[in-house]
Amino acid sequence: MSATDDLLDNNAAYAASFNRAGTPTPPARGVAVVACMDARLHVSAILGLEVGDAHIIRNAGGVITDDVIRSLVISQRLLGTDEIILIHHTECGMLTFTDDAVKAQIKAETGIRPAFALEAFPDAEDDIRQSIARLKASPFLPHRDHIRGFVYDVGTGVLHEVDADRELTGATSGLIESTAH
Ligand code: ZN
Repeated sequence: MSATDDLLDNNAAYAASFNRAGTPTPPARGVAVVACMDARLHVSAILGLEVGDAHIIRNAGGVITDDVIRSLVISQRLLGTDEIILIHHTECGMLTFTDDAVKAQIKAETGIRPAFALEAFPDAEDDIRQSIARLKASPFLPHRDHIRGFVYDVGTGVLHEVDADRELTGATSGLIESTAH
């Protein structure tokens, strides 16, 4: 039995007591969350979100890619959200490699260097600042006034807000350094 089979058993139990039929499509809280895919981030639990409350967009690192902007455009323009929450976290895998090294490794194995960026970053707080800057620079998003970014501490469950106005340093922050090893 695969892990997927086990999870399908879980779904049968979930569906047996399901009572959320009729939940509207537009998120009730008017919020879109962009978060890392890390398995330790239980985004709904971290923010106290219920079914129907928010859009949750996830990828490796929770980085702002063109495809994340695509989802945010639909979230804002078609489904009425006007706030964005960004969540990176301590001990993120994206802190542990560089794009160039992994792309070289992939090329050595496959003969093809990926055309896409892996978007690794050396500092979670700085990457949150860059993410906010990318969003603010996007002409496709009508609502860019309420964007806040956080680093989630996987050791305590606490969200630490990132000061978006601080200069990008490129340095490893104390927060990350103290928990990444
Ligand atoms: Zn991560």
